[in-house]
Amino acid sequence: MTVQTLQIPAYRTFPVRVSRVQRLSPSFLRITFTGPELGDFSSNGFDQRIKVMLPLPGRGILDFPAGDDWYGAWRALPPERRMPIRTYTVRGLRPERGEVDVDFVLHGATGPASAWAERAAVGDEVVLVGPNARFPGPTGGFEWHPPADASCLLIAGDETAVPAVCAIVETLRPGQRAKILLEVPTAADALDVAAPDGAAITWLPRRPGGGAPPAPRGALLTAAVMAAVDELADVRTPTPGVVLDDVDVDAGILWEVPDEDLPPRRSSGVYAWLAGEAGVVKSLRRHLVQDVGIDRRSVAFMGYWREGRDSD
Ligand SMILES: Cc1cc2nc3c(=O)[nH]c(=O)nc-3n(C[C@H](O)[C@H](O)[C@H](O)COP(=O)(O)OP(=O)(O)OC[C@H]3O[C@@H](n4cnc5c(N)ncnc54)[C@H](O)[C@@H]3O)c2cc1C
Repeated sequence: MTVQTLQIPAYRTFPVRVSRVQRLSPSFLRITFTGPELGDFSSNGFDQRIKVMLPLPGRGILDFPAGDDWYGAWRALPPERRMPIRTYTVRGLRPERGEVDVDFVLHGATGPASAWAERAAVGDEVVLVGPNARFPGPTGGFEWHPPADASCLLIAGDETAVPAVCAIVETLRPGQRAKILLEVPTAADALDVAAPDGAAITWLPRRPGGGAPPAPRGALLTAAVMAAVDELADVRTPTPGVVLDDVDVDAGILWEVPDEDLPPRRSSGVYAWLAGEAGVVKSLRRHLVQDVGIDRRSVAFMGYWREGRDSD
């Protein structure tokens, strides 16, 4: 590896401004960012994660730390000048036009990202931290790694996972059997997705409309995942005695993805990807791995956010 290669970071900062704001549904807002350096922004597609550094009230992005050690510089700032950083998914990328789309869930003015998105207007400035097209190796930052021979894909999540799931679904090959379960706030949040033959999407609105009471967060998703697992007989390859480490979702991050260093998985034929509120994902993990016996080397479990806790 040359010295020059070592100096190129896999992820870098991109100053951008809002070029379009599009309301997709009651809960989803698509924001298109543009910037002179976005020709060097890359994406692996799928659930490609990025960071959004949000402007501070009254200071905008004045304090945004440039340079390769942006994170060290950000941490060194006094707390009142540290711009909030949140994790999002690349929903669309057009490097030739210098454009990136990010779909924000509007969950109220309770967090800086959602509050910023609600008021976003053309010209507003933020900083994205994303994969660097000039980096010569794999940039990573995505967890969708199904084996080529998976007999069925089980993809499940809540609204925060919808952008990632939509991007994944659009890449499935026609004929690939896939069951996709998405819990969203309202029936009108069921987005148009180009799902190929073989992929069945079920939207699970917590507020179904017609005056019916809302379902508690996670209840519909949990029931639907359990039913799907029951249907997929080939997922059942019980390993008696599997006891999971307890992950404290209030103190840490629930992020359990197949480890390439583990011995090869048994061929269960099913690959699963689950993301959403950490407590919900944690209980699904316990059910799938401990109760059903699904091989954890075939499942990615990701807590995208935690109810009652900000992402700082
Ligand atoms: C890999 C990854 C990819 C992600 N991709 C996306 C994406 O593409 N689009 C997207 O909208 N989110 C996405 N998220 C989730 C997003 O990072 C969180 O929802 C984040 O907390 C939002 O920041 P905030 O500033 O709005 O709220 P915070 O300041 O983090 O939290 C403030 C309060 O709001 C609550 N809260 C946070 N999110 C929600 C929510 N969705 N619904 C209800 N209450 C909430 C928190 O529990 C807390 O009480 C992703 C997360 C990860 C880890």
